[in-house]
Amino acid sequence: MRRCVVASGVLVEDGRVLLIRHPRLGVWIYPGGHVEPNETPREAAEREFKEETGLMVEVVGPRHGIGGDGVTEEPLPLTILLETVRYPDEVHIHYDLVFLVRMVGGQLREGRWFAADELEGLETYENVKEVLRLALRATGQGVLRP
Ligand SMILES: [Zn+2]
Repeated sequence: MRRCVVASGVLVEDGRVLLIRHPRLGVWIYPGGHVEPNETPREAAEREFKEETGLMVEVVGPRHGIGGDGVTEEPLPLTILLETVRYPDEVHIHYDLVFLVRMVGGQLREGRWFAADELEGLETYENVKEVLRLALRATGQGVLRP
């Protein structure tokens, strides 16, 4: 089975999250995609976000302050998910680094903002809702629901 490293970006603003309709799976999901050769997961998350929504974003996340001697520390993802993705024609295993992102420019072309209280009824996977609740909580912008 194909195993891919993928990266995603969750954008939270004013207590809302930006989601797109996944072209192959048909569900609402945060933007993301495959990490290309010669690209880091952080770069992939930022590139995919721009391609899928029109918005330019920057990955944000905690760092421990490690560095020097040619080493810089990268922002930590919000979570890392191992996903079995069942496309109509093939199954992939995705190692998905899910980052929080912040907006730095661009124009919204595609996607929809969802408020925290719209997430319950959202047409998507339960794990996507869990990530979105986590993102709202991590940014201090949402009410945690059981
Ligand atoms: Zn894949």
